[in-house]
Amino acid sequence: MELYPCDLCGSDDLAEIACAPTYMAGRPLHVCNSCGMVQVAFRKTPEEVKTAWADEMYRVDEKTRLSDATYTARMPAVHARQTFAMDFIDEAVSFRGKSVCDLGAGEGDFLEVLRGDDYGAGEVFAVEPSAANCRMLDERNIPNFLGIAEEYVDQAQDRLGTFDVVTIIWTLENCHSASDVMDAAWRLCKPGGRVAVATGSRILVPFKKPLQYYIGPNADVHPHHFSAKTLAGHMAQAGFRMTDVNRFIDSDYLVMVGEKTDRTAPISWEGDNATAVLGFFERWDKETQGFYMADGPTP
Ligand SMILES: [Zn+2]
Repeated sequence: MELYPCDLCGSDDLAEIACAPTYMAGRPLHVCNSCGMVQVAFRKTPEEVKTAWADEMYRVDEKTRLSDATYTARMPAVHARQTFAMDFIDEAVSFRGKSVCDLGAGEGDFLEVLRGDDYGAGEVFAVEPSAANCRMLDERNIPNFLGIAEEYVDQAQDRLGTFDVVTIIWTLENCHSASDVMDAAWRLCKPGGRVAVATGSRILVPFKKPLQYYIGPNADVHPHHFSAKTLAGHMAQAGFRMTDVNRFIDSDYLVMVGEKTDRTAPISWEGDNATAVLGFFERWDKETQGFYMADGPTP
């Protein structure tokens, strides 16, 4: 375990979110005082996180509040959010005939649908750290790389700058460094190519779920928590100009699309106010306690 600086702006000036340890088995959650990015700053090393996703995910998940079954893209809620992301991104970039690289592809359901007649992607490629998932990808004849995005970029020099679209679907929040993954996406995109990020993080907009369904004890496999502004910050820092974002205010999802620039001109970004973020979590905790944890309804 190490205390890492802010993944978005690099600052060491972090504040603890007071209510978080109650939901995270005593673990702290931080907000960056400089840019407002919410993150698990004290966390496992990249190697440990990778192992957790590859080998421990199913067991970890069974022990938490997240699911009553093993995690799979065939769960209705997962299917629904993938469909939402697919339609939104397709409207923004049109997958038809395009080459698509999916970072953190899981079992390949997203790519499987993209290459079908409805979306008509020209080529699909999966980057996935789980060996079990890669066996599934092989069975589905989805070309894949076993490893994380940063490793793929190191090892596949011939594919740099060749993809029309790089998708990061409910994955960026789970990576050790979201900024390293966005950098990998930039390297994989062809000039003018697009990155599309979908996430369930959604800070500073009305609460759509109780707090214990948002943060939990498996902090190390979910270290990054985005608002629209901090996700736009990650896009900008990596060299993507934001082109599309969904109406996240009344949706459970945040989906954002960016266009690759040549990085010659810095792209400005705003971030969040840390005091506003701390106040937001304070209210979310109060609402959660009132509605879901006292005598309130249990979903
Ligand atoms: Zn920061």
